[in-house]
Amino acid sequence: MEYEVVMGLEVHIELATNSKLFCACSAKFGAGPNENVCPACAGMPGMLPVVNKRAIELGIIASSLLNCKVSDRVVFDKKNYFYPDLSTGYQLTQLAAPIGTNGSVQIETAAGKKTITIKQIHIEEDAGKLVHDPRTGSSMVDYNRASVPLIEIVSNPDFRNSDEVIAYLTKLQGLLTTAGVSDCKMQEGSMRCDVNLSVRKKGATEYGVRTEVKNMSSFKAIARAIAYEAERHIDAIEHKTEVLVQETRGWNDEDGFSFSMRSKENAADYRYFPYCDSLAVPVPAGWVEELKNAIPELPEEKMRQYLFRYNLPPGDSAILVGNKVLSGYFDKTVQVFDNEKIEVIRVFAREIANFILTDLLSFVKSEGLVLEKLIPKPQKLAHLIKLYKNNRISRVTGRAVFLEMLKSDVDIDRYLTENNLLQEADFSGLDAIIASLIDAHFPIAQEFKAGNEKVLQFFIGRIMKETKGKADPKAVKQKTEEALNGL
Ligand code: ZN
Ligand code: MN
Repeated sequence: MEYEVVMGLEVHIELATNSKLFCACSAKFGAGPNENVCPACAGMPGMLPVVNKRAIELGIIASSLLNCKVSDRVVFDKKNYFYPDLSTGYQLTQLAAPIGTNGSVQIETAAGKKTITIKQIHIEEDAGKLVHDPRTGSSMVDYNRASVPLIEIVSNPDFRNSDEVIAYLTKLQGLLTTAGVSDCKMQEGSMRCDVNLSVRKKGATEYGVRTEVKNMSSFKAIARAIAYEAERHIDAIEHKTEVLVQETRGWNDEDGFSFSMRSKENAADYRYFPYCDSLAVPVPAGWVEELKNAIPELPEEKMRQYLFRYNLPPGDSAILVGNKVLSGYFDKTVQVFDNEKIEVIRVFAREIANFILTDLLSFVKSEGLVLEKLIPKPQKLAHLIKLYKNNRISRVTGRAVFLEMLKSDVDIDRYLTENNLLQEADFSGLDAIIASLIDAHFPIAQEFKAGNEKVLQFFIGRIMKETKGKADPKAVKQKTEEALNGL
């Protein structure tokens, strides 16, 4: 029997604000337990909220990016439930008037393009965090995250496989990080994805029993959880291995299984009601327009520019576009060559991408460093690449100097002179070295005229070694070829 997996996504994204949604506490990740807490976000009686304007703005920007209709006012509702990490006994969220409704986003997978429709985007506050101590069996609560602003992006059940899910999440990451809505770091929890999944026979119009899986902290984990849940559902239908119930499940990525957390509540269980402590904030069309106009260039446009203006390979372009730090660095470095002709710019663009994607990334990986902290000035990388392209240094030297630049603010020219690394266009004694090498390997040299092209490479390699990489490779090639032809 052929089955179809049907999925809808609820994606929670922490907004990149300095402070929390209703108080002035810092919303920054990584502080010590309960360092960022005040009476308001600790849920003390009598506290009064002040709505964070930037959170609303980011909600509007996200809604615009995902082609939603933006609400003309911002109001909040109480979603009541008890949980130790929720000190107020309710979560402030948007039920009656979500900030964005009826949106859509285009994704692309190996199977082609597809439009995913968005039901709504609402602004809400995050809860605190329970920390379980397995040694003592006790639990502690950290309220730092309590009331940190989120948006929840709710899609319609448009997904049919995990490729589509991953493509969608990648797309959201690209859009939202570029626009500065969030840093979308799954590993730090600033992007969290809940998958609502059901299975039905192909061609059926009714949905099957739906379960929700949460707590996946990587794309890989999401794909594994989807595969596991789909199989569990199909088994239950085919072989009656269990009775499927509507519920929320957690994902254990280490051992690769999902487990029941709680039966899934329906909206009515939360006894939503309007929150009266903060007044409705009007959202005039002019404000939305202003925010929209300030959105920086989006990934699609950047991708097009990399592919067609700079002629970068699609793979390299995708990696750059997918990482704001890398693409920002690339853009600034390539800008140094702005006054050159496009053909020249393309040559340099290719080299800049090479240095960033091979040398820089492998250094970051091997040293386990934070990318943002060690990026050298764009002008310096541009200068280094100019030296390389003008045959003043070899690629090997270029790499070595670049690694030096990553470690310290080294002065390139002084470093090259002090370490005697500059190539000389007319390396004195080059002719003599070529002659003596040909002499030493005379039988091999003779094969060149017989048509063995590899001989040239053999000699060039030896000569570069002999001159310690300081001779201009172009001159070496030309002179060696002449010498071999002249035998
Ligand atoms: Zn606070
Ligand atoms: Mn939510």
